[in-house]
Amino acid sequence: MDLDVAVISTTVFCDLVFTGVPAMPGPGQEVYSEGFALCAGGLGANSAIALSRLGLKVGLISRIGRWPLGELICGELEREGVNVSHVRLADNEPTAVTVAISSPHDRCFISYPAPPPGGAAFNCDLDFGFIGQARYVLVSASDVTMEQLARIRSMGVQVALDVGWDATQDPRRVFDLLPFADLFMPNELEACRLTGASDAREALAQLGRWVRRPVVKLGARGAIALHQGQVVEERAIEVKPVDTTGAGDVFAAGLLYGCLNGWPIARSLRLANVCGGLSTRGIGGGRSAPRWDEIIEVAPDLHAAQKAGRV
Ligand code: ADP
Repeated sequence: MDLDVAVISTTVFCDLVFTGVPAMPGPGQEVYSEGFALCAGGLGANSAIALSRLGLKVGLISRIGRWPLGELICGELEREGVNVSHVRLADNEPTAVTVAISSPHDRCFISYPAPPPGGAAFNCDLDFGFIGQARYVLVSASDVTMEQLARIRSMGVQVALDVGWDATQDPRRVFDLLPFADLFMPNELEACRLTGASDAREALAQLGRWVRRPVVKLGARGAIALHQGQVVEERAIEVKPVDTTGAGDVFAAGLLYGCLNGWPIARSLRLANVCGGLSTRGIGGGRSAPRWDEIIEVAPDLHAAQKAGRV
């Protein structure tokens, strides 16, 4: 089976989301939430679901602890149309879990990342035969080695690199990976921290020395990209955000859709902003990722390009 995108992610979380909590509980207190949702979360799952909802063929490569919630989230990914043949449900290993509590004024999280046994940093068994069927690989910098990326590139597969900011992460490790990436899409904070730049444009220019197509996500302001030495800027859509968790992961799906179809960078950024923005209207990332009918409703300008089909 040919794949459009293979998503590599060492950790898929099971998100337990409590919404409409009147106020955060103090020590020894119990509060009641208005809503509750259980969904797959984390970059890999969010982006994989968002890509699938855009109609792309996507495979996820990951390892999920079976106990106690692994089968539930694997089932959700499968129902969303994600190819899970390379998601390994590991017996006797715990599921990574995030509890998210959302009140009208604040949000807080507790995460159990379920570290891989033996503390191995890269616990995905990469099947390069599977990866070689894809046109793009999407992976976070913390989930892949330079050797793995070099091998992926040597097979003619393009690489989209994301970076979740981790204070313990050595920026040099990210810079080692950048020459192997076609697309790199940090948010503003990540881009400035990585490069030492004081603003997003300066960071974008610096990243352009390392990677062919750098993009910097600017939250409610949209995103900028460097294309043939020029800064391309696209505004975000106007939304009343309910939950911005995973917006960047859904943005990545829109950007990849545009790149896969050979769209001009401005239109790809536009779709990415629409996808990221619409995902803030609901809880979670993948769970609130839009399908084409929702996209066309807020962005009729994208209809013709979408109808024109694949390049
Ligand atoms: P990340 O989620 O990776 O930290 P951002 O917060 O920059 O990245 O969000 C990613 C993208 O999601 C933005 O570039 C934008 O397209 C969209 N987005 C995020 N927050 C909003 C918002 N409040 N209004 C509209 N769009 C948003």
